[in-house]
Amino acid sequence: MTETLIRAFAFAFGAVWGSFLNVCISRWPAGLSVVTPRSRCPNCERPIEWYENIPVLSWIALRARCRGCGQPISIMYPLVELAVAFAWLASVAHFGPTLTALRVAVFVTLLIGIAMTDALHYTIPDGFTVFGLLWMMTFSVVGVMAGETGPFALPYEALIGACAGAGAISIAGWLGEVALRKEAMGFGDVTLMAVIGAAVGPRLALLTIFLAAALGTVAYVLIIYPIRLVRLNRERRGSLGPPADDDGIVPVIPFGVFLAPAAVIALLWGQAMIAWYLESLVNYG
Ligand SMILES: [Zn+2]
Repeated sequence: MTETLIRAFAFAFGAVWGSFLNVCISRWPAGLSVVTPRSRCPNCERPIEWYENIPVLSWIALRARCRGCGQPISIMYPLVELAVAFAWLASVAHFGPTLTALRVAVFVTLLIGIAMTDALHYTIPDGFTVFGLLWMMTFSVVGVMAGETGPFALPYEALIGACAGAGAISIAGWLGEVALRKEAMGFGDVTLMAVIGAAVGPRLALLTIFLAAALGTVAYVLIIYPIRLVRLNRERRGSLGPPADDDGIVPVIPFGVFLAPAAVIALLWGQAMIAWYLESLVNYG
């Protein structure tokens, strides 16, 4: 009973943080404050009442439309709220009501915010990454003091991890730039990898970049490349020959979208993955 209550509370608490995350996702890229003014409809600017701002439920009750002007409200809002709510629920269900559960939930919440902002606005706001770096460093110390570090890096590892993460992605971006002769990596990815490195430590930070590159490659082959072919065919209907390589037709997917899930995988299963890899080297080598 108590357990169910705690999980329900974690879910509701997560939904509220998801609601705040929506404010960060839509305001930070525009350089606006997330504290003032109150939430309002982006179309008619009518202030949103508290009862219209209840996570998920209000969106359903309002039938996804502003009560003032009837403008549709994006499904992104309830989806982000649900994603964060489930992240908090899963953390508490797996780790119990512990410090580790809180740290995992905050880490995933932060990464959802960063991935969404990067996907929608092609930027990773400092609001996320500065908070993230301070949080990860502070709680690496708190974890040691509480005697509960969970899957997170110890303070010294966190410091080295931040440097290794930011450094490795900078080198990858630099080499990518030389190879492609154009900007391959934004500075937001560097700040994001500093945060991830501070959470998971240097070894798993490198694993995160590797996993993100793998995820990005799979996404390119399965999703982006087919979209590109369809678009090219539509434009060149009737003409023969292979489609021209036109950069304007490649849908851009920012790297932060792949770094975020890769970091969660690295935090939760990275040690096991590395152990399995080293073991298979010994067995087959
Ligand atoms: Zn409106």
